[in-house]
Amino acid sequence: MKLHEYQSKLIFAKYQVPIPKGRVAATASEARTIAGELGGRVVIKSQVLVGGRGKAGGIRLAKDAHEAEEVATQILGMEIKGLPVRKVLVDEAASISKEIYLGITNDRTARKPVMMASAAGGVEIEEVARLTPEKIIKIHIDPLLGLKDYQARDIAVGIDLPKEHWKMFGQIATGLWRAYQECDATLAEINPLVITGDNRLIALDGKMVLDDNALYRHPELVELRDLDVEDPAEVEARKYGLSFIKLEGNIGCMVNGAGLAMTTMDIIKLFGGEPANFLDIGGGAGSDKVAAALRIILSDKNVKAVLFNVFGGITRCDEVAHGILTALDEVKLKVPMVVRLVGTNAAEGRHLLAGAKMITAETLAEAAQKVVAVAKAQELIQ
Ligand code: GDP
Ligand code: MN
Repeated sequence: MKLHEYQSKLIFAKYQVPIPKGRVAATASEARTIAGELGGRVVIKSQVLVGGRGKAGGIRLAKDAHEAEEVATQILGMEIKGLPVRKVLVDEAASISKEIYLGITNDRTARKPVMMASAAGGVEIEEVARLTPEKIIKIHIDPLLGLKDYQARDIAVGIDLPKEHWKMFGQIATGLWRAYQECDATLAEINPLVITGDNRLIALDGKMVLDDNALYRHPELVELRDLDVEDPAEVEARKYGLSFIKLEGNIGCMVNGAGLAMTTMDIIKLFGGEPANFLDIGGGAGSDKVAAALRIILSDKNVKAVLFNVFGGITRCDEVAHGILTALDEVKLKVPMVVRLVGTNAAEGRHLLAGAKMITAETLAEAAQKVVAVAKAQELIQ
């Protein structure tokens, strides 16, 4: 689950990371009021869950409350990378003398969190990582020991931070680490962390991604979820307890079990196709879940064919077949479907689907080849 900038920064502030004064607004007149209260120059920042807002024109300065209202009107009318802007953060504007990058994520290979920092922070950090990766300092954090003071100092030295800032940098790095660990985050990032014109360190931007699997431990963080800006299909899927991730291809996949779902995607690719989604209906899924899953898959306009790959263990193939039939009653079937049912009650399942004009397959390879072929044929027809 991604958090907005204003949410991430409020969390950082609780951990003694300095942030600019400011508040979030949903309307331009609210933005004007906030700017009036702050006094002086402000920055109006679109709150959307994508990076690169600055380059997309979603971050702009305003010299006073009046201009803040104008700028907020424009930004609130924007779409950034397909996402509508529903809120803006109005922050006291900072004068910037240097932009630093500071972030923590999991390094799966090292099996440890890694803190990364660069003196070349700001909107070009992806380019820095690509072209001059040596400009990014990395330090692994032992999850049992936490971030040690000497490590924070090593990073400060590594990015040539003037000595006068070391103490505050240590406080910020430690705060970021604690926020990351205590919130069960998979990413906590400040970009840019700036040295201001009057020589203070302050977190101008903030980004956090929380581990969905740990959210049950954080009811107060779950509240921060912004359903407005999430992909409707993913919101719907969560409601039914389905693990669904939308992808770019044209073959919808309905599979029980995450491992089998991954295998199914791999084998579709092996035979020259592209999956439209990852979907795990889970073990023991009943017909209502299956029906919801099929509705979600078919709501994607890119989907030209669907592959059901069900290995009945705890899940019963006849339940799955019932679910498919329920969904087909509601959504008029427009794309060919390939079904592979094996395991518990497979024969009953196949029997139920016999009238439903579905393409059947015995093995996974056969199913994949068939679905790739019909998806290609379908693309040609349209
Ligand atoms: P992002 O583009 O989505 O990462 O949004 P950021 O919050 O990082 O803002 C992008 C860039 O806008 C920053 O790197 C700064 O250069 C600039 N910026 C953001 N806030 C301020 C501010 O208060 N004052 C000034 N002068 N520039 C700002
Ligand atoms: Mn940024």
